[in-house]
Amino acid sequence: MSPAEFALLVAAGIVGGLTGSIAGLASLATYPALLAVGLAGCQTNPVSGRSQLVLVSEEQAQASSAQAYTQTVNEAQQKGKLSTDAALNARVKRITDRLIVQAGNMYAPSRSWKWSVAVIDEPTLNAWCMPGGKMAIYTGIIRKLNLSDDEIAQVMGHEISHAILGHGRERMSRAMATQGGLMLGSIVAGYDLSVLAPVADVALTLPNSREGESEADRYGIELAARAGYDPHAAIRLWEKMSQASGNGLPQFLSTHPAPDNRIQALNALVPKMMPIYEKARQ
Ligand SMILES: [Zn+2]
Repeated sequence: MSPAEFALLVAAGIVGGLTGSIAGLASLATYPALLAVGLAGCQTNPVSGRSQLVLVSEEQAQASSAQAYTQTVNEAQQKGKLSTDAALNARVKRITDRLIVQAGNMYAPSRSWKWSVAVIDEPTLNAWCMPGGKMAIYTGIIRKLNLSDDEIAQVMGHEISHAILGHGRERMSRAMATQGGLMLGSIVAGYDLSVLAPVADVALTLPNSREGESEADRYGIELAARAGYDPHAAIRLWEKMSQASGNGLPQFLSTHPAPDNRIQALNALVPKMMPIYEKARQ
């Protein structure tokens, strides 16, 4: 955040010491304050070219994500919920490794990310990729939807796209705005990364925007095609997902709201993706 942006936030009553922060907490509930936050933190994403609300630097987002990821993995391990299925772990790693190479070609800074993937043994239909490449996929989504390698590649390609498109930072920024000025004030004043870890957690439970979903669909299918995974699997994946939602909303759909024309839009992309896929298969 530049001094000018900081000044804007102070002017908006969102930061400025403890008293200012508490005042900010109240004013955040009002539309003008949120608007001020938006004005203070809009940046153009280098991959998509779209303007995004960003209150968190890439470094902060990655540091707090790494912290939240370590915590999630440690907790899963303590509960015996980290998958010990060697074949499944190897399968997921093989697929994500191929996607990671292509992510580097799409967004060069991701080549220096410390990528990691956890397979968590829980029945939930979920998967995510935080800023900086910290990923998880849950056994529930693989087993209940009986996912093929191509379909796992579509899930993780979509998730990785959220990360390289800066959607994690967007969600963290929204989590900060949601949690109020107190946290925002302390972050801006002291860059206290420890208070950002809960923001990374909260961000994972917030839905992406529909616009963000369309972007992740578009880039995800291409990422998977470049890595040699069948674009048709994207259609099958979302069909399976919508069938599964008959038994209550899967967590994945609560955080990845469907753009109205998701399957149509993906269908329209398949012919464009096939040459990329076929070239990657050679
Ligand atoms: Zn998504």
